[in-house]
Amino acid sequence: MKKSFLPYIVFAVLWHYGCSSTVTFDQQSVRRQIPLSETEEIIGTLASDDMKGRDTKSGGYYKAAAYVIDYFKAHNIQPFYPEYKDSLVTDSLLSYNVVGHIGPFLPHRKTVLIGAHLDHIGIKGSVGDTLYNGANDNASGSTAALQIGAFLAQHTWEQNIVISLFADEEKGLKGAEHLAERMKKENVKLDYLVNFEMLGTVLTTGENQVYLTGYEHSNMAEVFNAVSPNFVQFLPEAKAYNLFKRSDNYPFAKTFGVAAQTFATFDFKNYDHYHGAEDEVENLDLENLNAVIGTAAYSLAVILQNKTPIIWNQKEEAEQ
Ligand SMILES: [Zn+2]
Repeated sequence: MKKSFLPYIVFAVLWHYGCSSTVTFDQQSVRRQIPLSETEEIIGTLASDDMKGRDTKSGGYYKAAAYVIDYFKAHNIQPFYPEYKDSLVTDSLLSYNVVGHIGPFLPHRKTVLIGAHLDHIGIKGSVGDTLYNGANDNASGSTAALQIGAFLAQHTWEQNIVISLFADEEKGLKGAEHLAERMKKENVKLDYLVNFEMLGTVLTTGENQVYLTGYEHSNMAEVFNAVSPNFVQFLPEAKAYNLFKRSDNYPFAKTFGVAAQTFATFDFKNYDHYHGAEDEVENLDLENLNAVIGTAAYSLAVILQNKTPIIWNQKEEAEQ
């Protein structure tokens, strides 16, 4: 080898190993960077009476969306669409998904989407507590998407990372359907979607655990558990009730044929207030929520850094 090639080889090696990811993530330090106080502040704000149940009819949804946009701006998450808004009309009311991305968005790269639905069911009835704050459903998942997004935004990734807070989930997954179709038309190369729903109570199998919908249809659980052992569980009820098709992950699985799945802790035994007026922050375990968010952020960081493939088993999906 001629000596004159050496600088180029050194450059190439540094380019390959030096530019991408020199950070080594460790669970404790990632967890420390996602403080409980911030978890409490975000979920407390999103589930406050001021947000009027985060519905477009009550008007609260727009307040919640404005809060998310401010959070994105404060944490270096860039607008994926103008003003972060992917607009749609549901039941004659204007609505929008709030969509941001981390680092540059390069069309040729694979895209990883992190999501949660922001909307809830608003105001119902006229007697007693008429405000449905939806602390667990889904201020908890929204808090996870925001804090994980803010953490990931502090680092450089070789994938496109998009964070979406979905609109109109409660009206039939309308926001997610809209975004999935739009991204498909725009040729976004979706690699996988990680969605967060109802994480505010402790899963019956143990603290700091979640279950995954569509568990057996991809290697997602296995991949997360390889980083954080026992974090992701199989919930028989999730399969029996086909929860895989009941949240914002589903339109992406259907449209793109990739692993698009939901992490949750609501297991039908650990919360009595599903779609009730008592779905309030006081009834949740925020320490456990914070632990779950930290563990998910750490696991995802390692998976993204290692570019671990998350593979969808289409055949099994078709058999459902
Ligand atoms: Zn929900």
